[in-house]
Amino acid sequence: MQVYTLGEGTPEVAVVGAIHGDEPCGARAIERFLDEDPDVDRPAKLIVANERALERGVRYVDTDLNRCLPGDPESDQYEERLAHELMAEVRGCTALGIHSTVSYARPFANVACLDGRERGIVAHLPVEQVVDFTVVADGRSAELPGFVDIEAGHQGSAAAADNAYDCLVAFLQVTGVLPGDPPDPNPEFYEVTEPIYKEPGRTYHFRGENFERVAPGDRFADVDGDSLVADEEFWPVLMSDDGHDVLFGYRSTYHGPLSSLPPLDRTEATAESADEATDD
Ligand SMILES: [Zn+2]
Repeated sequence: MQVYTLGEGTPEVAVVGAIHGDEPCGARAIERFLDEDPDVDRPAKLIVANERALERGVRYVDTDLNRCLPGDPESDQYEERLAHELMAEVRGCTALGIHSTVSYARPFANVACLDGRERGIVAHLPVEQVVDFTVVADGRSAELPGFVDIEAGHQGSAAAADNAYDCLVAFLQVTGVLPGDPPDPNPEFYEVTEPIYKEPGRTYHFRGENFERVAPGDRFADVDGDSLVADEEFWPVLMSDDGHDVLFGYRSTYHGPLSSLPPLDRTEATAESADEATDD
């Protein structure tokens, strides 16, 4: 794990790239940002998490780092130990994790157990969608308090690295590390309701588009010669033919623009104002 610290003092803001080694966009965005030798208003740390997997171009070496938090320092599995080290680095930090996918080209944010601080962050990232993964919580960084993830685009693409950089800058603006106003895109909010698993040995073909409504009765996928038919409406998320061995994707519910959701708590606004904890 590589940890770069900017500014003076103990960072309370962190950006984490290369949680998955076959998703280089976060590490590229961090390198590009460091190359610019930026001036910061408050300290931040930039973390390239799974260097070993990044070097090999694989998602992980022993086990999925983003399914084994908080990890175990005594484990014989590399990522279990790494997860423990990563937890120590991001403890007490407001954090952004950077990922990429095979299923969708444009950036979107992933959250779980959304709180006001996290909602204030994702409202100001340059993304069109925010997806709540609380129902499938299974050791992901997004489940940590104050931690949000982005999916920056297609794995290995230049566009994903550019999107990751734009999200990194916006995140550092909303957390007061960088000067300037972050974007205010009012993304659409989706809540994952269940995963759809593949039957082993069968070939899947997704017929729809991620984030586009599947109506009851729609044939949304072909599985060998058969069709998968929706019995009720849903919005597909991270659905792809071969992005994952056992997981085809997720069903979600669409809740409307983020701004239309009821307020979560009084800390909502920006991470900076949450830190100050003042009355309006
Ligand atoms: Zn990832």
